[in-house]
Amino acid sequence: AADFPLTVTLRNGVTVPSLGLGTWKMGEDPHLGEREIAALKAGLDIGMTLIDTAEMYGEGGAEHVVGEAIAGRRDEVFLVSKVYPWNASRDGTIAACERSLQRLGTDHLDLYLLHWRGQYPLAETVEAFEELRQQGKIGAWGVSNFDLADMQELMEVPAGENCVANQVLYNLSRRGVEYELLPWCQERNIAVMAYSPIEQGRLIRNDTLVHIAKAYQATPAQVALAFLLEREGVIPIPKSSHPQRIEENRDAAYLELTDEDLEALDAAFPPPSRPTPLEMI
Ligand code: NDP
Repeated sequence: AADFPLTVTLRNGVTVPSLGLGTWKMGEDPHLGEREIAALKAGLDIGMTLIDTAEMYGEGGAEHVVGEAIAGRRDEVFLVSKVYPWNASRDGTIAACERSLQRLGTDHLDLYLLHWRGQYPLAETVEAFEELRQQGKIGAWGVSNFDLADMQELMEVPAGENCVANQVLYNLSRRGVEYELLPWCQERNIAVMAYSPIEQGRLIRNDTLVHIAKAYQATPAQVALAFLLEREGVIPIPKSSHPQRIEENRDAAYLELTDEDLEALDAAFPPPSRPTPLEMI
């Protein structure tokens, strides 16, 4: 994290780069494996040492790809994975974590997230997370796709306040979280990991982004990421299987948007003026 220009310090005291590497869609096609591994390694080489994966991605395939990419350099990486809600019972969470560790070729995750809410009581999942933490199998735990009411419920559960992150859909075209959830998390220093930060690639064709990018000889993807990086405690996790795009995304950390740019972005993508239910992809 020391190499990266922007960092976030989590509630457990660990400092991470403010921009991570996503891995959804990786590990699905064996022919692309080598390219995906190379892309992730290229990201690590330029300071993007936070990797976000999940048991869901490629049904374990993405974790295998990540395992290959981090082999021999586990200490450089802040590794995040997620448990399926239907595995998130007291014992199921522990078993799922052990399977993820096996695929990733490591003995610990830095952060383990409940992928979204399911049928098991939060208290059960949290109890399992706390046990994994005590065993050193995870450094910290968090949640994903939790709206404000879910977070409030979580805080009522024993040890619920140990949650360090909530990973949610957040980008210029999905700003609902700014109304309540983001400030609520910021007040408590719960990191907000912004998933699909360039709306799965769709934002790069937006005219306003194209226009702002031109003035800086930057790219629309960089503007979309810079918009998120401006915000305290927000960690966008763009995914790319191309080393040059990963470098482009990294360089968003050096792009500073002016008040004028931010006004133009607000005009094109109005911030929420009332509570909006959390969206999911
Ligand atoms: P992103 O917004 O990160 O967009 C990824 C797409 O954009 C890919 O098709 C990629 O193509 C393309 N892309 C990336 N960088 C550039 C660039 N600089 N210029 C042009 N195109 C680019 O979407 P994701 O949905 O992948 O979200 C990111 C990560 O968030 C996921 O990979 C996953 O780790 C996490 N996530 C979590 C969810 C949750 O429920 N917790 C849900 C969804 C995502 P290519 O690879 O070909 O370069």
